[in-house]
Amino acid sequence: MNMKNRLRPDLAGLVPYDLDTDLDGRIRLNANESPWAIDGVSAGTNRYPVPQPPLLRARMAALYDVPESRLWIGRGSDEVIDLLLRAFCEARRDNILIHAPTFGMYRIGARLQGAECRAAGTHPSDAFALDPERLLSLVDDHTKLVIVCSPNNPTGTLHHAAIAWLAERLEGRAMLVVDEAYIEFAEIASAAPLIDRYSNVAVLRTMSKAHALAGARIGALIAHDDIASFIGRIATPYPLPTPSVDLALAALQPDALGREGQRIAQTISERARVARALSDLASVRELWPSSANFLLTRFTDGKRALQRASAAGIVVRDVSSQPDLDNCLRITIGAPNENDALLNALSSRVEAPALMEQPA
Ligand SMILES: *Cc1c(COP(=O)(O)O)cnc(C)c1O
Repeated sequence: MNMKNRLRPDLAGLVPYDLDTDLDGRIRLNANESPWAIDGVSAGTNRYPVPQPPLLRARMAALYDVPESRLWIGRGSDEVIDLLLRAFCEARRDNILIHAPTFGMYRIGARLQGAECRAAGTHPSDAFALDPERLLSLVDDHTKLVIVCSPNNPTGTLHHAAIAWLAERLEGRAMLVVDEAYIEFAEIASAAPLIDRYSNVAVLRTMSKAHALAGARIGALIAHDDIASFIGRIATPYPLPTPSVDLALAALQPDALGREGQRIAQTISERARVARALSDLASVRELWPSSANFLLTRFTDGKRALQRASAAGIVVRDVSSQPDLDNCLRITIGAPNENDALLNALSSRVEAPALMEQPA
């Protein structure tokens, strides 16, 4: 069954904002733009950008090894998550299903759209394993999206083994959204080829993490043609800023991709080194295997570890308020010297000075 039937019925027949697609005119007096570029700024930035630049589409489709018709490029995968929620979920009626703990934007996006967010818990006691039957048991007629984050943020756990099984059982009912924001660090294959078999699979990719472009905001939806083109129709007319497109194209040059590959390999080896060093610390109680560029670590005293890092000028993410994650910090793998600084701060025998100490 075509998943178009599960889109919001009230959006059927929506006519998108009318863009002029003829961009070849020599004199452009159609879009109320300034005829003058700012001195020293990349050429063409006084003009509205092409909504989906063909060269960037070609390069990203090649990078992810998917047909261009299945690709929609947005302002980071955050925008794609938002648009999927808007496209599928009717406010106060529909719901989405996630596993927890996971990335916080799914719940926030659902709330903004007025959709209920259901969660199936995963637990540290069994290394955050996902129970797909349990997930499925929470699906009802109003479930529109089931989101699986793999590798998961903040646990680092891989959940790809459950994807095909879930896709088959959710066919015609709900979209199975696989957030692959960290897959480059996982050394496994993307779920994207499953779209050949299951039209309800959608994959999220981003250039923010492994491709070092968090500041450019470039992410992608990979989904069945009908879904990808629908998302393009409800998106803001000019989602991709010209400088961001230029940066993404630069990052997709073969030599840049080669360097990114080396950095990914370095991050993976640093991940192993930092994990070994952390697990030797008396203050570390638990450390889970990670397929991403961070490590979820439980300390005997999470607040104190946070303070020690902070006293050395290092910020790490406090995730202790998430279910089952008391005293846990999520530590991003940085450059080797940054990782050394963190390990130093956490292992030093000298206590960090009390932050609130008054002068004598
Ligand atoms: C960082 C992150 C994103 C956001 O990616 P952008 O493309 O920068 O918006 C999406 N999903 C997960 C799980 C993330 O951790």
